[in-house]
Amino acid sequence: MLIDGHGRQVNYLRVSVTERCNFRCQYCMPEKPFSWVPKENLLSFDELFKFIKLSIDGGINKIRLTGGEPLLREDLDKFVAMIHNYKPDIDLALTTNGYLLPDCAKSLKEAGLKRINISLDSLKPAVAAQIAQKNVLSKVLEGIDVSLELGLKVKINMVPLKGINDNEILDILEYAKDRNIRVRFIEYMENAHAHSDIVGMHGKEILEVIKQRYTIHKLGRVGSSPSFNYEIKENGYIFGLIDPHKHDFCESCNRIRLTAEGFLIPCLYFDEAQSIAEAVKSGDIDKASQILAEVLRDKPKENRWSEEDNEGSNRAFYETGG
Ligand code: SAM
Ligand code: SF4
Repeated sequence: MLIDGHGRQVNYLRVSVTERCNFRCQYCMPEKPFSWVPKENLLSFDELFKFIKLSIDGGINKIRLTGGEPLLREDLDKFVAMIHNYKPDIDLALTTNGYLLPDCAKSLKEAGLKRINISLDSLKPAVAAQIAQKNVLSKVLEGIDVSLELGLKVKINMVPLKGINDNEILDILEYAKDRNIRVRFIEYMENAHAHSDIVGMHGKEILEVIKQRYTIHKLGRVGSSPSFNYEIKENGYIFGLIDPHKHDFCESCNRIRLTAEGFLIPCLYFDEAQSIAEAVKSGDIDKASQILAEVLRDKPKENRWSEEDNEGSNRAFYETGG
């Protein structure tokens, strides 16, 4: 069992397989031109897998592949199969913008993928294009449909932004309810890489919008989930709110993150990270294990988004995988 320096059990590893992305979401990507990390700096799937085996052996039982856009990484289905074959009962999930799902959802499912979280910030083509800075909506919706047809367990993520898609909270809720899938509204997390004019909505404001149509009651967090669940009284539909600005958000944090370059990140907010790249490249698994222990020991107690005067994180979400 992996326990961090604050006594929390860590059983969840998020692996960003690439920082590259085919979208340029305003809340995630910089306004100014920037360059990607050279491909040769990325760990191969074999190298990432060495660390994954070590962490599964230590007690990780949930792995989420993310990015950047994870579906851009070639042979992702083979990587899914490597993890699945090592431990078939692992909770193996993916977070994606959905654009490439129509082409690859089937092979991912066959490789052992169980669950997919798909980002859907708008149901209006022009607004979706404004956020992602690309005409994306029809492919994303098709990706959701294909995943559902294949029997994958789908959740929708929406980041409500003031003046952009804040008037679509109820529409996205209805879209998810009609398909019997869970939607989670994610508070925008201020960070130095996002467009400077982006203003997010606090959880309370999101709930106020939903309360204009429905009566809702609190269910709470299930296990270590970051999502606080609510039930709509009128129809029993359950939705989630991911609210890192709330003080109790970090109490049950159970996760660490691994980037495509091999940085092990204990907390999304802070800059601290340790590299396992050399250790896995040289096959020094004891060293990788020691780095994992140090990262767990030093995992911060809580993020700073919960502090009113916080200036946001310096971390880029497209690098860490959110
Ligand atoms: N490209 C994939 C996607 O968009 O789903 C996976 C990576 S993305 C970084 C993972 C999640 O982080 C997405 O649901 C996205 O909406 C969310 N995200 C990105 N930047 C964010 C921010 N500044 N605040 C809150 N959520 C953010
Ligand atoms: Fe790409 Fe996901 Fe970031 Fe949007 S949120 S730019 S899809 S990594």
